[in-house]
Amino acid sequence: MSRRSFVRSLLETSKVIRFLHRSLNQSFLKLRYLHRHRQKKRNKIPIAKASPAANPSNEAARLEALQRYEILDTPPEDAFDDLTALASFICGTPIALVSLIDSNRQWFKSKVGLEATETPRELAFCAHAILSPSEPFIVPNALDDERFATNPLVVSDPDIRFYAGVPLVTADNYPLGTLCVIDRIPRRLNREQIDALRALGRQVITQMDLRIKLEKEKELNELKSRFVSMTSHEFRTPLTTIMGSADLLEYYSDKWSKEKKQSHLQRIQNAVQHMTLLLDDVLLIGKAEAGKLKFNPSPLDLKQFCLDLIEELQPNVSNHHSLTFVNHTQDIKANLDQKLLRHILSNLLSNAIKYSPDGGTVNFELFCQEGWLIFQIQDFGIGIPEKDLPHLFESFYRANNVGDIPGTGLGLAIVKRFVDFQDGKIAVESEVGVGTRFTVQIPFHPVANYSS
Ligand code: ADP
Repeated sequence: MSRRSFVRSLLETSKVIRFLHRSLNQSFLKLRYLHRHRQKKRNKIPIAKASPAANPSNEAARLEALQRYEILDTPPEDAFDDLTALASFICGTPIALVSLIDSNRQWFKSKVGLEATETPRELAFCAHAILSPSEPFIVPNALDDERFATNPLVVSDPDIRFYAGVPLVTADNYPLGTLCVIDRIPRRLNREQIDALRALGRQVITQMDLRIKLEKEKELNELKSRFVSMTSHEFRTPLTTIMGSADLLEYYSDKWSKEKKQSHLQRIQNAVQHMTLLLDDVLLIGKAEAGKLKFNPSPLDLKQFCLDLIEELQPNVSNHHSLTFVNHTQDIKANLDQKLLRHILSNLLSNAIKYSPDGGTVNFELFCQEGWLIFQIQDFGIGIPEKDLPHLFESFYRANNVGDIPGTGLGLAIVKRFVDFQDGKIAVESEVGVGTRFTVQIPFHPVANYSS
């Protein structure tokens, strides 16, 4: 080989070696990158796993307090949205929420910078925040906090790093949720920002209280207008009767027979009695509302009590109605307030008769099951429209199918209060044109050593 061709082949070989070296080097770098990336991934991104907060010690009462506000799942309201907007602006965070902690979720009454309307409670930072109702709860960097470092809301969307929440505490000390601000980068708040967040939190609970007051005010106004229309109708009719009969007696009594005078006097007495009963009901509901009912239990032979009640009601039962009583108990004696029970049952039985204009049967049954006395009153009368059922126990409420059947809408309101007062329950099932069944349950307190 000539010297020239030897040099050429040497150059060629070194080119190949350089090429191979470069390729190997690149592959090595690529492998190293992949290895490092995998390692990074393994070390840095934790497996998503929440550390749920414990329940507050008064959880059941706290949830009841939350329910009283009737705010969950209501539409957004400006008053709350203004407060979250201010919180986000003052604290300089992209996210701010009014979050309420329900039994197994946190629900947002108001939100800035977040799409979700609720998240599971076990993921909620706010569920931790309500455990110390008097202090703001601040997490400067969720990745440095073992309670939150693996929280799915931290390791993935919305990538929470910073959280600060002030508990929303009711006047009776129940923490319902928080007003909170959230950021996607670690940070801190200064003293002024924390104080401002606290003040805004107090405004949130004030708004919640105002909502309840407004709702009560609305109910009261509705009640007032129903009271006015009921009294004007129910008092006007007997007053017209009294006036008419009194006028006639004044002008014609000399010429009338004793029987005719007597019949007009009777009409006046009936009208006065009707108004007295009406006033008694108004007073009774006032007493129940004011918490002034009294409970005077005494031993009561239930079967005999029910039979007597039916006997008393017989004058009201027209020839077309039949009132039947079936006793499913072993002639028991219970400690009960007779006056309250009489009022409940006679009201339901009179209604069953009153709203069965086409005649038919009213069934009255007595059971004793699992510590409850159960009274069932079933009729086959006009029934109650579905949309009226939720309102039946409100004062002065009457269903819209009553036509000209007289009534005040007070009976069931009183019945409900009397049942509640004895820790009982009342339920109604009804279908228009088919009939109605009321079921009353009262706790059974047996009288010892009773044998019939
Ligand atoms: P009222 O004096 O109007 O009978 P209540 O408070 O006793 O007042 O009842 C409220 C309303 O419930 C009634 O006006 C009526 O619309 C409905 N209602 C109650 N019981 C019955 C029933 N057995 N059948 C049909 N409707 C009933």
